[in-house]
Amino acid sequence: MKNINLSNIKILISEEEIQKRITQIADKINKDYQGEEVCAICVLRGSVMFYTDLVRQLTMPITMEFIRLSSYGHSTSTSGKVNAVDIKLPDLTDKNVLIVEDIVDTGITAKFLLDYISMNFKTKSTKFVSLLDKKIARCTDVEPDYYCFEIDDKFVVGYGLDYDNHFRNLKYIGYADKSILQ
Ligand code: 5GP
Repeated sequence: MKNINLSNIKILISEEEIQKRITQIADKINKDYQGEEVCAICVLRGSVMFYTDLVRQLTMPITMEFIRLSSYGHSTSTSGKVNAVDIKLPDLTDKNVLIVEDIVDTGITAKFLLDYISMNFKTKSTKFVSLLDKKIARCTDVEPDYYCFEIDDKFVVGYGLDYDNHFRNLKYIGYADKSILQ
């Protein structure tokens, strides 16, 4: 494990900024789905904090599902392969599906999940919302329908995002200097 510890993590997005922006995105989602029921899928483990804060601000009837995907292992860059650790879902036919992601980086994970859902279910609609969008790293054609913050090519931790399963509990999103990660 590289030498990342709390003293070398800098704040990128504060707790206040995160909460303010989630309220704005939730308002938009509430308007877009007025009168509809939504199945909100939490992509564990990274989106856990974002998911729980977001769904509490949604006003339409919600059903909640949890799946677990992984692509990073112990590294700070994607393996390029998505490991569907647990992808059990109920029948999503005719449902409005809202996938809740922590970050879209290359987009491989989001594409895997969107393809999986379209191959297995004829949903009423499928959209996805991401806390972070690292557009600069994208190597697929997927774009989130909603995102809270665009970030540049930093490895971020906190607010659900981990390094080797640590730092998920930080209330803010932080990053470690490139020199520490090398
Ligand atoms: P993608 O498949 O879009 O390349 O990456 C998606 C997954 O990689 C995310 O759900 C997240 O778990 C992980 N990931 C991508 N960028 C970062 C990052 O900067 N920090 C952390 N902690 N995880 C990341």
